[in-house]
Amino acid sequence: LESVIASPEVVHYICKRFDIKMSKKLGQNFLIKRGIVDEIVHAAELTPGEPVLEVGPGIGTLTQGLAQSGADVTAIELDRRLLEVLDTTLASYDNVRIVHGDVLKLDVPTIMNHKPFKVVANLPYYITTPIIMSLLESKLPIERLVVMVQKEVALRMVAKPGTKDYGALSVAVQYYTEPDIVLDVPPKSFLPAPAVTSSVIRCVLRDKPPVDVIDEKLFFRVVKAGFAQRRKTFANTMKTTGLSKDRIEELLAKANIDGQRRGETFTLQEFADVANAWAALIK
Ligand code: SAM
Repeated sequence: LESVIASPEVVHYICKRFDIKMSKKLGQNFLIKRGIVDEIVHAAELTPGEPVLEVGPGIGTLTQGLAQSGADVTAIELDRRLLEVLDTTLASYDNVRIVHGDVLKLDVPTIMNHKPFKVVANLPYYITTPIIMSLLESKLPIERLVVMVQKEVALRMVAKPGTKDYGALSVAVQYYTEPDIVLDVPPKSFLPAPAVTSSVIRCVLRDKPPVDVIDEKLFFRVVKAGFAQRRKTFANTMKTTGLSKDRIEELLAKANIDGQRRGETFTLQEFADVANAWAALIK
């Protein structure tokens, strides 16, 4: 099969031939537009021989585009039924390796030979955020992520303080990366068509975080607390950390932050200021 996989006819044909029923539970929506595959591959800026990890190759629509770039492709697929399909659809590419398993459970560093790599994927929507967060928090030598997610999630990833989409995901993504939305993708680009519009988002990993943080664990505890109870003031929602009212007042004074504001208006710098005041206090 040398023909382009990402077309309605070929995807239909493959699913029929292998008797594949797309699993909603596994978030299976296969790309049927080669133009979208090309845009994703382009945004990844792959060079021949460069290691790239694909999460969820499905029947190989995007994998084919990655393989054709000459990159060294490793694709992790959970659905065992798809392994023989991928064996057939990707038979002519010797730079593709399929690994069977759950990306959240496998030992990704070992699979990627402890070398720097990029992540490119049309992610299964039911676990988009866990996958992105586990990859970012893993501190793996990832250079960039180019991933298809629900548009609503992409908007949260790039959201700025004080907007309705701004939340803990925005802070984490922007702490580790510089994200930008590459393009929106309508439901009709997939089989089956999902209910919502998707977006391709590119997140380029930073060399170092944009704010100085003494203790990252505390930083993310403050962020989590800051968004825990959206209608409450920051001083109030900080109680979810277990700190006493007095302690909270003490560190807000130290950080020179008005606790009557809401967490969702805080910049990364302000979250860092609170976390650093906390770190200094317990030293
Ligand atoms: N890459 C293909 C494409 O673009 O047409 C398929 C993308 S589809 C949205 C998501 C894929 O992720 C499915 O093939 C699904 O079986 C797989 N998947 C779901 N959960 C997974 C997991 N935990 N680990 C690895 N793959 C998973």
